[in-house]
Amino acid sequence: MPTLTLYDSMARELREVTPEDGQTYRFYCCGPTVYGPAHIGNFRTFVMQDTFRRVLECLGMANRHVRNVTDVDDKTIRESQAAGQTLQEFTAHWKAKFQADCEALHLLPPHVEPGAVDHIGHQVKMIGQLIEKGHAYAKEDGSVYFNVASFPEYGRLSRVADRELKLGAAQTVNDSDEYEKDALADFALWKGRKPEDGENYWPSPWGDGRPGWHLECSAMSLEYLGETFDLHSGGVDLIFPHHENEIAQSECCSGTTFAHHWFHITHLLVDGGKMSKSLGNFYTLADLQEKGYTPMELRYVYLSGHYRHPLNFTLDSLQAARAAMKRLSKFETALAIRAGADAPPAWETLRGLQAIGPFAPAFEGLCRDLNTPDALGKIFTAIKEIQPETLSPDEAATCYQQWHFVLAALGLMLTADEEPTDIPAAIHALAEERWAARQSKDWAQSDALRDQLAEAGWVVKDGKEGYTLEPNS
Ligand code: AMP
Ligand code: ZN
Repeated sequence: MPTLTLYDSMARELREVTPEDGQTYRFYCCGPTVYGPAHIGNFRTFVMQDTFRRVLECLGMANRHVRNVTDVDDKTIRESQAAGQTLQEFTAHWKAKFQADCEALHLLPPHVEPGAVDHIGHQVKMIGQLIEKGHAYAKEDGSVYFNVASFPEYGRLSRVADRELKLGAAQTVNDSDEYEKDALADFALWKGRKPEDGENYWPSPWGDGRPGWHLECSAMSLEYLGETFDLHSGGVDLIFPHHENEIAQSECCSGTTFAHHWFHITHLLVDGGKMSKSLGNFYTLADLQEKGYTPMELRYVYLSGHYRHPLNFTLDSLQAARAAMKRLSKFETALAIRAGADAPPAWETLRGLQAIGPFAPAFEGLCRDLNTPDALGKIFTAIKEIQPETLSPDEAATCYQQWHFVLAALGLMLTADEEPTDIPAAIHALAEERWAARQSKDWAQSDALRDQLAEAGWVVKDGKEGYTLEPNS
């Protein structure tokens, strides 16, 4: 099997991915802030992290994947109040929605998905240690700040110079007027209670309040992965200040390296620019589904771009994904028929498969800095060479496994339910009625319904397990 390499944003070079302890690859991904639906930019990051996880699994590498849920911060508090709900009710709703979207996009659930509110004690403990070691100070209003000047290595990841640091901090810390910190770059570890926080405060040795956002990832990665772990990941916007602050907090507490490897995903652009509600190009998964696109088509669009380059999303790119996936589906169907397979092999049987024959070049592409567009290109090259009808049933069965190995690495599923969802409900109902008529061998009724569907512009094609509908072109 190939060696997996991935760009490390700290070392600024490709590095081999291998578990430091020789056993389990441990990695942490900054998760969503649950105050509304995640947008398709967020999901570029989560899908790329999932693809990385899938490649580890395909290589047979044991791993531990932790992704947190930010369920207390300025935005969650503000929006829960606007919705007239408790913070817990409000964030539970959006967390469930996020998880449903993840499932639709075929993301493997992380092994641990901890929430910040359940780890207030862990964060308070860490603040105590930072104060004790001289890296943090409490102010009279009950807030505690990290003293950036106490950590000379601050800025190592983002290479942010002192001057930029001050500027950046001034731009990103919007509470600089409201809180009494000593230096502009210092950031809050604990925010003293304010009237607008409502009931959302917790006790601490420095008074009631709540943790600063950056601290939760330091506390939860420590709890679930230990002081040092293999890889930390997020979108590029998190490099500064979030990841820089996480490194400072964690390394000042533990005195050792926080994460060995940093994996950052470049932003998704929409129509060539930043997604924005006012431009009408801000999409959630539900928005795209309403337009008749499927989550798998969106996943395909993500895979068509390399994670280190900006990816420009357009509705046309979803159309292109649909056409490409149709070609893949056709190949899969022909191969399945030849192999006599009626369902894809289970994920467990694919992990660690050693010889992947014609799809080896595609998998090698994935293993070279997660080059998903290269992998897709190599898949198309491979299927051009293979005529499933000419394979023996045994050869087809082997090829079918190898095919699913590489699809599993990409997290692509090409099933009948990946048909466009823009089939009108009435047409679906007619098709269902016709299928039922066929099952009960009422051929006259089945034919009449087929004609009705044709008149409405739809062709129905029958398979062994069900039917598919296509527009009558
Ligand atoms: P948030 O819910 O805002 O904390 O973001 C969740 C994840 O999405 C983080 O890793 C962000 O860096 C990432 N993210 C935010 N916007 C984009 C975007 N346009 N493209 C890719 N990733 C993004
Ligand atoms: Zn984080």
